[in-house]
Amino acid sequence: MRRYTLKTERPAGRSGFLAELNDEQRRVAEATRGAVLVIAGAGTGKTRTLTYRTAHLVAQGVPPEHLLLLTFTNKAAREMVDRVSRLAPDAAARIWAGTFHSMGHRVLRKHADRLGYGTNYGILSPEEARDLMDLVLATVVADPTRRRLPKSQVLLSILSTAVNTERPLAQVIRDDHPQFAQDLPAIDEILTAWLAQKVEMNVMDYDDLLVNWRLLLEDHPDVRAEYAERFLHVLVDEYQDTNRLQAAIIERLTEGLTASGPSPAAAAERSAAELRWGRSLMVVGDDCQSIYGFRGADVRNILAFPQRYGGVAADDAVDPEHGLAAPGARLFRLETNYRSTPQIVAVANTSIAHNRQRFDKTLKAVSADGELPAFVACADAEQQAQFVAQRVLELRDEGVELKQQAVLYRAHYQAMELQLELQRRGIPFSIRSGQKFFEQAHIRDLLSHLKVLFNPLDRLAWVRLLKLQSGIGNRHAVGIFEALAASGDPWTALQADAPAATLPPRAREGWHKARGTLLALGAPGQAGNPGGMLDYLLADGGYGAHLERSYPDHTQRAEDVRQLAHYASQFGDYAQFLEDLALVESVGVEAVQSGQGGDERLLLSTVHQSKGLEWEAVYVIGLADGQFPLRRALRSEAEEEEERRLFYVGVTRARRFLHLCTPQWGTDRDHRRVLMRPSRFLQELPHTRADLVETWRLSEG
Ligand code: ATP
Ligand code: MG
Repeated sequence: MRRYTLKTERPAGRSGFLAELNDEQRRVAEATRGAVLVIAGAGTGKTRTLTYRTAHLVAQGVPPEHLLLLTFTNKAAREMVDRVSRLAPDAAARIWAGTFHSMGHRVLRKHADRLGYGTNYGILSPEEARDLMDLVLATVVADPTRRRLPKSQVLLSILSTAVNTERPLAQVIRDDHPQFAQDLPAIDEILTAWLAQKVEMNVMDYDDLLVNWRLLLEDHPDVRAEYAERFLHVLVDEYQDTNRLQAAIIERLTEGLTASGPSPAAAAERSAAELRWGRSLMVVGDDCQSIYGFRGADVRNILAFPQRYGGVAADDAVDPEHGLAAPGARLFRLETNYRSTPQIVAVANTSIAHNRQRFDKTLKAVSADGELPAFVACADAEQQAQFVAQRVLELRDEGVELKQQAVLYRAHYQAMELQLELQRRGIPFSIRSGQKFFEQAHIRDLLSHLKVLFNPLDRLAWVRLLKLQSGIGNRHAVGIFEALAASGDPWTALQADAPAATLPPRAREGWHKARGTLLALGAPGQAGNPGGMLDYLLADGGYGAHLERSYPDHTQRAEDVRQLAHYASQFGDYAQFLEDLALVESVGVEAVQSGQGGDERLLLSTVHQSKGLEWEAVYVIGLADGQFPLRRALRSEAEEEEERRLFYVGVTRARRFLHLCTPQWGTDRDHRRVLMRPSRFLQELPHTRADLVETWRLSEG
């Protein structure tokens, strides 16, 4: 056995900027050997500490290419690297930083040939994946539209769940999609063909970027060794929301640190770089903010971290120069919340205490006292929208810029009234995560029917609604429209069934369905009841069944439609309804972003998308039982706890002003006004304790 005499350079003294951390945080930033777990509540500076640790490593002389920084979004990674470059200029470009997917892609670009792909493989967008799955379906199953098989997007979702949670396909179907249980052999066959097809076409979907990264590390020891040598220091933010697959990738990369790591012989061959610069893994997270369980995130990754890395190390197990003298993970907690007022922290603490599944930790606030969080009881969603809009302007007048304010909700549809209200008042806003309510495919699908009634020459709307029918693709849709429009009066041509003669049987069948639906909608007396028209489309018009077969989140989409129908029912005529929407619709995302507001915009976001961010003022809306917590996410205690963690995430985004809004009246499926109960998460805050929240009553005048 060889013995090394270590010639590590003495650390160059404490980097000056570490003085901007508190003692707990500084210890974390400086613990640069071994496995380190930081579990800490919201706003305690986890992300900040991770950034400083990165800068500290660079300041110690560790070449930046030896660092790997894994974050939840690429945007978060860019922000952190920006901050690092302020602390340690020049290093930024050489650090590997980004999401798991983007880092996987970077590795696979170099080595995909080991797995049978070309290194010039293409990446499938979700839409392209769906199109390709359609093709595969058509080759494997003689006539997929005749069978009650799941559609491509549902198949992709089943596969994705299996992959990310590392559960067998059969189990995923049994647990999550029992309605397809008897189709398991067919689904299995389709998926096998799907995998082969992707390799043949030299394309990967998003999941493949993780799956193949892992395969590469597991099946190709030389590749694993290359990256284990490269990434001496791995740092992971938001670790509570990693899934099994991501945890496995990290384990492979840091094998030298795991309990079951390489043999002592292998350890003796540690690279010169490792001996010089050390090796570490730091993961930070908050078990109370684990909110992606429904997508396969597994909070057990955090809970089992110490075991996987050799148990919890005693503090004196650490030799400051040579790293850990004994194996084990070091556990740190950060307890000081720097983000929010003590009043906001108190609400967060009180709420999360109702969860049974959690690490016990306390959150102490250091900010100056602020106002009590407001509990705002609104009559309904419209009044809630008015309240938010008015209060946003008021705070702006008091100096809180629009971009320092955010409205958070459980599901996009809950912001529909607010979008309209902001639009009316000319308050610029943007919506995080893509699509606005009215731009979503299912809303456009339905509106296309009303548009055709209103303007039978609307070619786009015709093509859109015709293509919803099986047997009708672009070609037939355009053909049908042209046959209708030839006379100059499409509606009369529709009544006369003009296009039928030109169509093959399957397309004709589809056409007749669409025709029947339109005739029913156009029947006398319908036009005065736009809500009823949308209801008809969802039920008798067959759109509900279409949603069920097409989308994994069909329940949510059907709920969107019902909300839209409710909104429509206040109009005495469908044309007025369309006109009202046209105003909203014509303002696309870009228009809003480049609008008068410029960068100064109010943000609307789901709570999920608000993770890791902060604003001076936050409005959590829709806090009624059934909306938040969302009814369909309440099938078990575990799901209820995930919803409560979501509430905790929402509350802890606020720095100074927090508004908790509950609409009292909602609507049921038949658009009857129903009384809703305030969210159980509000009821759990003792309102009687005047020191916790302040109730605001709204009055008109
Ligand atoms: P989350 O759980 O929401 O992801 P976090 O634990 O990552 O939060 P950060 O976002 O890093 O917390 O920090 C929250 C806020 O507190 C930021 O504005 C940050 O700049 C500030 N902050 C953190 N630590 C300190 C400190 N030692 N001194 C001053 N401000 C701090
Ligand atoms: Mg953070």
